[in-house]
Amino acid sequence: MHDLTRRLKKRSEELGLDLFGAVPASDMEEYAGTRIDWMDWTVMGSPGDYLEAAASFVVTGVSAPGEAWDTAITLNEGWTYSGYYPMEMATMRLADEMGRMGYRVYGHPKNISRKILGRLAGFGPWGKSSLIIHPEYGPRMRLAAFLTDAVLDYDRPAEGDPCGDCTACIDACPTGAIEPYRINAKDCLIDHMVTGEAPYPDLLERECPELRPGIRIMCRRCQEACPVGAV
Ligand code: SF4
Ligand code: SF4
Repeated sequence: MHDLTRRLKKRSEELGLDLFGAVPASDMEEYAGTRIDWMDWTVMGSPGDYLEAAASFVVTGVSAPGEAWDTAITLNEGWTYSGYYPMEMATMRLADEMGRMGYRVYGHPKNISRKILGRLAGFGPWGKSSLIIHPEYGPRMRLAAFLTDAVLDYDRPAEGDPCGDCTACIDACPTGAIEPYRINAKDCLIDHMVTGEAPYPDLLERECPELRPGIRIMCRRCQEACPVGAV
C-alpha cells in the first residue's frame, strides 16, 4: 500500500473512525446530474465542482448500532443529527492534516452521495433497503467524505447481494416506503420530519418520538430489522 494511504488509514483509526476507504474522484463523474430525491436536494454534483484537480475521495465512517445515532435536533429551522458531529470532526481533522501536508482538500461535499461513495470504497453492497450493508455493521453505520488532489491507493467497490430471500426491512417499514433496492423518499417518515409534511401523523409520533421539543429519535425500523451484523 502507498505510504500516504497507509498513513491516512492509521490516522483515521487513531481518530476513532471505524471505516476508511479511497475512491477515484473520476468514478463519481457518471453520477453527476443524477437527481437526488432525498430531502429535495437537487442533483448530484461533479467532483470538479468542488475542487479543481480533484483526484480522490477519502471516505470514512463509524458503526452506529443504537438509537442514539438517530437522535436529531432542530437547528436553524431544520433537523440535524448531532451524533454525527464527532465523526465529521474526526474526518475534517484528517482532511486538515492532509492540507498541512501540502495537499488540496475540500470537506463535506454535500451533493455527493455518501452511500454511493461507501459502496465504491468497499464498505458494502446495496441492500433491498437501499442502504449499503456492511458485513459487520449491517446498515447501521454513518459515513463522511472529503475530496483531495492526492492520488491514493483505491479500494474495490463492494459487489454482490447481501439480502437473498430476506425482506425484513420492507416488512418493517411502517409506511411501505421501501421497494427492493429502492426507497421512495417521499413516503419515508424521516423525509416527513424534515419537510414538515406529515401525511401519517400517528405513525410519525410513534416511530419518531419526541424526547423534548426540538429533539426526536428518527425512524430506524429498516436498520433495526436488518439481520446482517445484528448483535
Ligand atoms: S426510516 Fe422508517 S419510514 Fe423511512 S424507510 Fe426506514 S423504516 Fe421506512
Ligand atoms: S433487512 Fe434483509 S432485505 Fe433488508 S437490507 Fe437487510 S438483509 Fe437485505
